[in-house]
Amino acid sequence: LLLFGMILAGCEEKEPVVPVHKEKEESPSPVKIGFSMDTLEEERWVRDRDLFKQAVEDQGAEVLITEARGDDALQVLQAETLIAEGVDVLVIVPYNAEAAAAIVQKAHKAGIQVVSYDRLVRNADIDLYVSFDNERVGELQADAITELVPKGKYVYIGGAETDYNAHLLKKGVFDVLKEPIDRGEIQVVYDEWTDNWLPENAYDNMKKALEANGQDIDAVIAANDATAGMAEKALEEAGLAGKIPVAGQDAELNAVRRIVQGTQAMTVYKPINILAEEAAALAISIARGEYIDTDKKINNGKIEVPSVLLQPTAVNKANLDTTIIADHFHTREEVYE
Ligand code: BGC
Repeated sequence: LLLFGMILAGCEEKEPVVPVHKEKEESPSPVKIGFSMDTLEEERWVRDRDLFKQAVEDQGAEVLITEARGDDALQVLQAETLIAEGVDVLVIVPYNAEAAAAIVQKAHKAGIQVVSYDRLVRNADIDLYVSFDNERVGELQADAITELVPKGKYVYIGGAETDYNAHLLKKGVFDVLKEPIDRGEIQVVYDEWTDNWLPENAYDNMKKALEANGQDIDAVIAANDATAGMAEKALEEAGLAGKIPVAGQDAELNAVRRIVQGTQAMTVYKPINILAEEAAALAISIARGEYIDTDKKINNGKIEVPSVLLQPTAVNKANLDTTIIADHFHTREEVYE
């Protein structure tokens, strides 16, 4: 059960060899990184897993990867297993920002430092946070949509309340909407979290938003592409596909295709390769005992966490060739098929 959902990658344990002659110095055993992921549901997380594994192995280190599938208790159990396996550093994508603090405590007790990957662990002495600027993601969404719809009725389909990123995204969106709201130009007529980031919950949210407003809405900002996709399904069923701009994030292939088709206005592109490479390099440095300092510090409710925040990019039909396609995030064939 402990190993349920556990992908042991690159962990070929070397058989203990009894040396016959001790002529050579024994080489130190490779650094071992634990990567405790929440989910592999969205397309991006599969990319994160593969690129992180690659980046760690390229530096001659090993990685053990687990997937908690949206289950707090399982993520704690899996982290305990990684600690018991002797990882040198734990890199964690928390399912639940608060509950994951227990993992940080357990790791620290075992003398293992913890890196928060993409999502911040709240109220814990986390050692390092590597992510994108999530408030900026929300700002980019709201900038793009307010340019298209400067006045009207807005629907906000948030992320999972248990994920601190969802709060940062929302803050970014509402920072931009504040002035037009204050001027009476924009009204937010529906604003709900999407439990567990589940697209079917986003679909229900969108249905409720349409019902509550007699289908009279002008714009939708969804916290990611998976939720945007299901919001668009509800719009389509109401005969509104392509008539109301929808924003998402992640640059998922389906979302980029919807942008080409005109049913999604924009997405936010986050180059996952940079995140994975940066996090892997920093985790290995920590494992080697190097001191990491960052310019940026983010408060997680307990401490000022040394943070590395990468920049996201707004993508629409006009610039997808020069961003996503130029970066080989998706191929031209896939996007325009
Ligand atoms: C990530 C998004 C992702 C979402 C759902 C967020 O924390 O930043 O990229 O779509 O989680 O998994």
